Amino acid sequence: MELFTLPFEEVLKWPFYEFITVDGTLSVTLPSYIGLVESGVLPERARSAVRLLESCEVCPRKCRVNRLAGETGFCRTGRRAVVAAFHAHFGEEAPLVGDSGSGTIFIAQCNLRCSFCQNFEISHLGEGAEVEARELAGIMLRLQERGCGNINFVTPSHVVPQILEALVLAAERGLSVPLVYNSGGYDRVETLRLLEGVFDIYMPDFKFWDNRWPLRFCDADDYRETAVAAIGEMHRQVGDLVVSPGGTAVRGLLVRHLVMPGGIAGTEEIARFLADRISRDTYINVMSQYRPCGMARSDPALNRRITDREYGEAIAATLRAGLTRLDGIVLRGS
Ligand code: SF4
Repeated sequence: MELFTLPFEEVLKWPFYEFITVDGTLSVTLPSYIGLVESGVLPERARSAVRLLESCEVCPRKCRVNRLAGETGFCRTGRRAVVAAFHAHFGEEAPLVGDSGSGTIFIAQCNLRCSFCQNFEISHLGEGAEVEARELAGIMLRLQERGCGNINFVTPSHVVPQILEALVLAAERGLSVPLVYNSGGYDRVETLRLLEGVFDIYMPDFKFWDNRWPLRFCDADDYRETAVAAIGEMHRQVGDLVVSPGGTAVRGLLVRHLVMPGGIAGTEEIARFLADRISRDTYINVMSQYRPCGMARSDPALNRRITDREYGEAIAATLRAGLTRLDGIVLRGS
């Protein structure tokens, strides 16, 4: 996020989403990628990212398939991204929604494919349409035109190069709202570095602490180490979540954690990691809405909803760890 102090007439020429009056001028916050486009850095980043598709190591799976030639690996996605749906979404965390919703783009396929996924048709079956870069850019712009305060990419990890390519075109055509990277937390640090100064808001899941569970449900026995490194990199880039006086997320890290039956998500360990090794000011959404979806009904560890008691214990563990910024929960005295 860059902070500019400009005369009012100049400000009116700029796309912006937040401003504060300061001594007769306006301080305008612009999404970080605007500066990268003007300096020519973003187009070069996009080209570098696309080259990664030739022997794909975009995500921790490191399939090394040639996606430029149409080969596909674990994520079953070739040269083009597949978009399942896009719309103004009002069900996201309050700081992302604002008055007009979060401009959410659901990317099809996934590099985790959790057996219990609530978006099974999208993540496992890949329902959606392939899009060229200019079409994905057009989707971003349409969401901005509808008034959405951000563009929120859901499950972006396997299509980072395609998003960067599209962003160059969208920014040249006037995109000016911040971007949200809404991933499962299974991201490669090397790929995230290409996104420095591009995404202002990172919203990863931290799903499990004990790798036995992601091995069983997502075929990812390195999930914990990968998420630890990825969330550390995201926080290094954007810091703790900053919310404007109007309640809108401006920049920073927001972690999602879904409480699972039988305590298998490892809420306590994850909360301690966030508090001790990321920041006590980490903003976290401890989510209660788990329900058996996809293949979960046939797995005894997953085939029920959580109880109120389990959710209460998860919240208590999060607070005990020292985290106090919990989405939807106002602490007495705060
Ligand atoms: S992005 Fe897809 S093809 Fe590339 S390494 Fe990850 S799962 Fe494999």
